[in-house]
Amino acid sequence: DGVIWFDGELVPWREAKTHVLTHTLHYGLGVFEGVRAYATDCPELGRSGPCIFRLQEHTDRLFRSAHILGMKMPWTKDVISEAQKTVVRENNLSEAYLRPMCFYGSEGMGLRAENLKTHCIVAAWEWPSYMSPEAKELGIKIRTSSYTRHHVNITMCKAKANGNYINSMLALKEALDSGCEEALLLDNEGYVAEGSGENIFIVKDDGIIYTPELTSCLEGITRDTIIRFANELGLEVREKRITRDEVYVAEEAFFTGTAAEVLPIREHDGRAIGSGKRGPITEKLQTMYFEQVKGRREQ
Ligand code: PLP
Repeated sequence: DGVIWFDGELVPWREAKTHVLTHTLHYGLGVFEGVRAYATDCPELGRSGPCIFRLQEHTDRLFRSAHILGMKMPWTKDVISEAQKTVVRENNLSEAYLRPMCFYGSEGMGLRAENLKTHCIVAAWEWPSYMSPEAKELGIKIRTSSYTRHHVNITMCKAKANGNYINSMLALKEALDSGCEEALLLDNEGYVAEGSGENIFIVKDDGIIYTPELTSCLEGITRDTIIRFANELGLEVREKRITRDEVYVAEEAFFTGTAAEVLPIREHDGRAIGSGKRGPITEKLQTMYFEQVKGRREQ
């Protein structure tokens, strides 16, 4: 039940449909975002009720993704940002996961896209947590994937594009099938890229934080938030190529992402990371993250 914003209209959830000849369904070219609204509870800072975390940045990235793929956007950023607020409000959600998505419709088939029309939807639903509370506290087990970030991912990883998720899905399935909770994808040269839908950080050399440079991973908004927090704490963050064995011997490791939030990694390819549980820096950054999204920190 509820409503979905669809090309400028609020449409009942069950009627928000598209034709089987929808172009993006066939060829995969489309762009989307994953955004979260949190119930803020800090009236003393002027914040209470649902608040969409870093809405502007997500909308900006959606438009950048469309620009990279050459998709014409029929709406302005303001309209898409407003649509996100509207679906949270109209569906009476206090906490929500939001999905803005732009796709080519059924106006034509074939690979020439210049005459295709871009359609946009924004849906919102309750999706409290990606992982269990125990996983957030104790950490997860990950495995290096046999699938790597492929060509489109590597050269165009700034786009959050529908077609970029095939190897993420295969990698995640492989990890789940082998008893792990997440996958770690390497780039074409064998360096650490990212999780199926998360950026990775490791802590080593006595508290220095490392994360892969933005050549083979999505420019994560949570990644950026965590780098700012680390700077605020006076911790050094270095963006550099990371090898798989650097993760094995790290003091701490964690994933970041809108869905996964800040997620400790306790084991990688069967090897314990650090003490085998959430490390102190991870815990501190995770706490800051939850304080921030819940509106309890000064922005
Ligand atoms: N990497 C990939 C492949 C993703 O899909 C996501 C999720 O959007 C991320 C990283 C994390 O990005 P963000 O923190 O902006 O959600």
